[in-house]
Amino acid sequence: MKILMKAMGIIVFMFGSMPSIAQEHVVSPDNDVMKLTFLGTGAPRPSTERYGPSIYVEAGDHKILVDAGPGMRERLFEAGGFDAISGVDHILVTHLHFDHTVSISSAWLSGWLFGRRVPLRVQGPAGIGHMMMNIKEAYQWDVDYRVMVGVPIEGTELIVNEVSDGVIFDEDGLKITAFQVEHMPIDIATGVLLGLRGETLGFRIDYKGHSVLFSGDTRSTEASEINKIGEGVDLLIHEVQVPSPGATPEANLANVSLSVHSTPEQVGHVFARTKPKMAVYSHIIPPGTTAEDLERDTRPFYDGPLVVAHDMMEITLTGDDIIIGERADQSAGRFEDSKVLEK
Ligand SMILES: [Zn+2]
Ligand SMILES: [Zn+2]
Repeated sequence: MKILMKAMGIIVFMFGSMPSIAQEHVVSPDNDVMKLTFLGTGAPRPSTERYGPSIYVEAGDHKILVDAGPGMRERLFEAGGFDAISGVDHILVTHLHFDHTVSISSAWLSGWLFGRRVPLRVQGPAGIGHMMMNIKEAYQWDVDYRVMVGVPIEGTELIVNEVSDGVIFDEDGLKITAFQVEHMPIDIATGVLLGLRGETLGFRIDYKGHSVLFSGDTRSTEASEINKIGEGVDLLIHEVQVPSPGATPEANLANVSLSVHSTPEQVGHVFARTKPKMAVYSHIIPPGTTAEDLERDTRPFYDGPLVVAHDMMEITLTGDDIIIGERADQSAGRFEDSKVLEK
């Protein structure tokens, strides 16, 4: 493997020589539509109702994933067929927990195999470079194999960007800002950080007058960046954990993670402070929690617009409108119609 460039936290991993970029973004200047599809609204615990955390963002002609949890590839295929699989060229990773990252390899390799001929850009916290280098090494044999039998090498490149605070992307009217959130392990008794290396992030995406905030995984505190950077956004998408009742060993184990996640009461206060045009719950722990449960537990603290996301829910931002609907199933798209043979 060659590391071609490491400057300002940007690492480019390549298999061959630097290719010419065969596909360019064709940006339609009047396209102000921003669309989010919730590919997975669950958590680490397996669920066939709520897959792992992943949100597909279409902003004009940009196709981005925010996290890539378990089941992402199948949901993305449902959301947009082969075009969506090969169209994603940018992944924002909030943190390195497996439920947010386990499908990055799948996005990289199936995107390439089914027609992406540009590098995949991966932006995430400290440690994402190491993870991507290992993923790349793990699948070197697969890439070598497929290239040998005729799959173009273009599209295997990874542009990996370790980011912290601030603007991390700004092109074609699409601005992405990263910020720190509070999800590092703490001593439950004292609240003191245990000292694990690394960081955990949230993201805000602005596109042609629309604004969406992704909380990442986080506990809620008064000092949280979300309270500032999320003020007045169109959509504030927040994680949530409902405490498990009782004192069984299973409940106790589940409730340990309350120290790094947010209860409906806490998120209700965040929503009340920031006043988004629409508050959204996703990354719902445990995944069996119903919309009614979350509404009931949030309403005493927040009375604004609120929606509980489910897998394949779609939110469209256009003009001043926020349209909530269901993503049409596009998985019937034929392989023959994919861009797999385009160079
Ligand atoms: Zn996490
Ligand atoms: Zn998580």
